[in-house]
Amino acid sequence: MTSVIYGPVPSWRLGRSLGIDLLGTEGKTCPFDCVYCQLGRTSYSLIDRREFVSIKRLAEELESVKGLDIDYVTFSGMGEPTLASNLGRAIELVKSVLPFPVAVLTGSSLMMNKEVRQELALADTVVAKLDAPNEELFRKINRPASNLTLKDIVSGISKFRQEYRGKLVLQIMFIAANMHYAGELARIAESLSPDEVELNTPLRPCAVQPLPPQDMEVIEGQFARLRAVNVYKSPKPEVKPLDIKETLRRRPKL
Ligand code: SF4
Repeated sequence: MTSVIYGPVPSWRLGRSLGIDLLGTEGKTCPFDCVYCQLGRTSYSLIDRREFVSIKRLAEELESVKGLDIDYVTFSGMGEPTLASNLGRAIELVKSVLPFPVAVLTGSSLMMNKEVRQELALADTVVAKLDAPNEELFRKINRPASNLTLKDIVSGISKFRQEYRGKLVLQIMFIAANMHYAGELARIAESLSPDEVELNTPLRPCAVQPLPPQDMEVIEGQFARLRAVNVYKSPKPEVKPLDIKETLRRRPKL
């Protein structure tokens, strides 16, 4: 049996981040199959929510990490955390047991679902992915399950913004395919009023090359009207994972 809790991992925005994987699948489980995904190709392309890991099992594992010194508890793991139908209860449990803020990293793929938005709203920080300004690039970069559209996803993030009082972060992964669309992405981002925009490029091993710092600098200039942070300018903390094997499965490079 694999563990639900992994890390802590060094996060360029969340500091020392203890990971929670509510999916626990051997391969990646996600409605997307992003070309730059550090977890490789999607094994289980799902869009329906279900319970993968019980709350009882999470509660047992949380007992063993009490007393750990970290900055954030982050729901991420082997794919899309909002696929877990017990995400809301899991966030409530973590907040009742550990004295740290909770973040969820989501590909935004299920944010059109009201239940998902209500559960995400329990987190202190939600980091939502948005990589493409049009349906064609969305299909090319995020390779979604067939019935997902960018229009619905942007509408889901927009509804979430209106409902959510916590910190909403948009994360945009820039690669060669979308680097010339930074202006369009910035305008969409402005319409969504995030608290912060993370400008990322894939620095961990994957099938796509990262953009160099000079290209990311140009891209950053397009986001001048937003609070934007550039991955090349953000230091990462030193951390020592509790279980290196379980951590590297979800985060192949620390
Ligand atoms: S949404 Fe995240 S986990 Fe899913 S394929 Fe994209 S990068 Fe990988």
